[in-house]
Amino acid sequence: MTIYYVNGSYQSRSKALISVEDRGFNFSDGVYEVIGFSKQKLLNFKKHTVRLKRSLNNLNISHPFKNFKSLELIISNLINLNSTENGFIYLQITRGSAKRNHLFPKNVSPNVVIFTFSNKDLKNLIKGVSVGISQDLRWLRCDIKSISLLPNLLEKQKASDKGFYEIWQSRNNQITEGSTSNAFIINTKNVIFTHPANNLILGGVTRDCVINIAKRNGFLVKEKSFTINDIQKCKEAFLTSTTVGVLPVIKIDKCIINKGKPGNITLKIMELYNKYLIKQIK
Ligand code: PMP
Repeated sequence: MTIYYVNGSYQSRSKALISVEDRGFNFSDGVYEVIGFSKQKLLNFKKHTVRLKRSLNNLNISHPFKNFKSLELIISNLINLNSTENGFIYLQITRGSAKRNHLFPKNVSPNVVIFTFSNKDLKNLIKGVSVGISQDLRWLRCDIKSISLLPNLLEKQKASDKGFYEIWQSRNNQITEGSTSNAFIINTKNVIFTHPANNLILGGVTRDCVINIAKRNGFLVKEKSFTINDIQKCKEAFLTSTTVGVLPVIKIDKCIINKGKPGNITLKIMELYNKYLIKQIK
């Protein structure tokens, strides 16, 4: 039986209930995090909590946990109760429940929901995925990990209907990021490019780790946006997210990358990132 954490208690699915006046439900007024765990140990936990704190502060939602040590304990209990070794945590915090009104309610406590979900089958994806290109229809605060994901959903669905795995969004001719991942290309001089971590993208935890790991291992990384024209000339491409790690991109729109095979630098970065995760569970 799956156990869910809801506002301080651990419940079975039928008892894991949230008010119909929850502001996340009514207004998408909330934030979330997805955190990986392996052998019951949380991965990149500190980085996720730093981002969570930023998201909450940016939306003026009060912090529901005494500190992040107490959050870690709650999550550990939940993982234990679900007897899951490896997987992911979905954590959602909304402003709280109140009579529907656009203005922020006074004296409400945030609603917290946490549940675990299991690993996707990555076997086929690591051979390389295809991505489409779409207009970036989102707002100008993509750096906040808000639960308001409609533009991401709409574009990802359209891409999926056309047979693509992911969509890379373009604003003013610059690729910002995927609908659920960060976007990278490698040019013919072996320089790795990704959009800078500003208000136009979500600063991915995996993106951040990959940039640091790549630099430490002698790769040149430029946090500079790239265009569709740069894609047409690139040597390799990949995407990153917590749920998939590093995935080779072998086709972008109609453009076949590296003859449709994962590139050598991408494969090296995948290996280095996996080693980096394994170190955290030792
Ligand atoms: N960008 C967007 C829009 C995302 O939804 C995600 C995944 N949540 C990412 C990037 C990747 O972030 P992370 O590496 O922290 O999972």
